Amino acid sequence: MSQAPASLSTWARNISPSPTLAVDAKAKALAAAGEDVCGFAAGEPDFDTPVHIKEACAAALAGGKTKYAPTPGIEPLRAAIAAKYAADYGLKVAPAQVIVSPGGKFSCYLSILAVCSPGDEVIIPAPYWVSYPEMVKLAGATPRFVLADDSTGFRLTPAMLEAAITPRTKLLILNSPSNPTGAVYSRAELEALVAVALRHNLYLLSDEIYEHLLYDGAKHVSPATFSPEAEARTIIVSGFSKTYAMTGWRLGTTVAPVPIAKAIAELQSQTSSNATTFAQFGALAALKETAKTAAALGTMLTAFDRRRKFLHAELNRIPGITCQLAQGAFYLFPNISAFGLKSEDFCTRLLDEQRVAAVHGSAFGAEGYLRLSYATGDEIIAKGVARLAAFCAGLPR
Ligand SMILES: *Cc1c(COP(=O)(O)O)cnc(C)c1O
Repeated sequence: MSQAPASLSTWARNISPSPTLAVDAKAKALAAAGEDVCGFAAGEPDFDTPVHIKEACAAALAGGKTKYAPTPGIEPLRAAIAAKYAADYGLKVAPAQVIVSPGGKFSCYLSILAVCSPGDEVIIPAPYWVSYPEMVKLAGATPRFVLADDSTGFRLTPAMLEAAITPRTKLLILNSPSNPTGAVYSRAELEALVAVALRHNLYLLSDEIYEHLLYDGAKHVSPATFSPEAEARTIIVSGFSKTYAMTGWRLGTTVAPVPIAKAIAELQSQTSSNATTFAQFGALAALKETAKTAAALGTMLTAFDRRRKFLHAELNRIPGITCQLAQGAFYLFPNISAFGLKSEDFCTRLLDEQRVAAVHGSAFGAEGYLRLSYATGDEIIAKGVARLAAFCAGLPR
């Protein structure tokens, strides 16, 4: 690939490609060429979408649900999402506050566009999801990173937040459970952060896409439930991709105070229009057929939890690696700083020499770590972690 021509826009020239998708693509290309690759790079469940969800979508497609739908989503789905927030978290949400978008990624982008202007600053705790900084830059705003490494369990503290706030700060992005670390904030920790954010009149983008992928009895709490003041400043993003193994369906959700929800709907009406109409009927079945959905989610969670514990134990047996036992999502984020290699070099060599694909911590704003996804088969995890151990044994420390 040649360099981008100077005639392209500022936006096109300044955007960084997604490193997670790039590593995954390289691993898949090697596998397609017949190489035996152990892939820990993918950011999606290895399960298929539950069959009742696919059937509802197929029925909608056969029944002619092939036209434009209302921009913010089909009415029954918006109502079902509102009902879900009431049932799960006791949060009273009107359907008018709910926007269905083509993917949770687009939900995040529109949320940022709805509240950020050029000159505004956005606080992004690192390690962060790779898309936040790019989205903030596309809105003309400036990302301000605050590193919360394994010394605080990858969680921002109120003092760290306070120190990063300036008169220009407009928005704080929180992602619990976290991609890439799997870290989950407790209610008390979140309350303390939200208190600081409210004192400075910040908006809060709470990316809760992994809200149902929790282990060890961890509970998800949304900052919007803390107080009417918190609710008035919080934009909740979630979606169907991770919980229901529906990454390819492209369905994300936003719940926001009415003026922000309206702004998001207007931005969406001029950029993408509605999320795919018949896909929304599949999502509706995910929320309505609760027993079937809970069974499918239970199967997935049992597998994820088993792999999480196994991978965590095996990583900590490798001399030079330390890894915290994260309680959410499907990632572990081991510390590899003892090897003194840049994480990107570590990952390039790991893939070249041992055919193990992992994403370098620096992609997430945290040098000295790796992101390993355990949303892959048990045998692949066992084989991959043995290869990682062999690789580490050959490195000087
Ligand atoms: C996967 C993911 C999303 C949204 O994914 P979509 O596939 O666009 O629905 C949002 N935030 C984080 C942190 C994610 O990992």
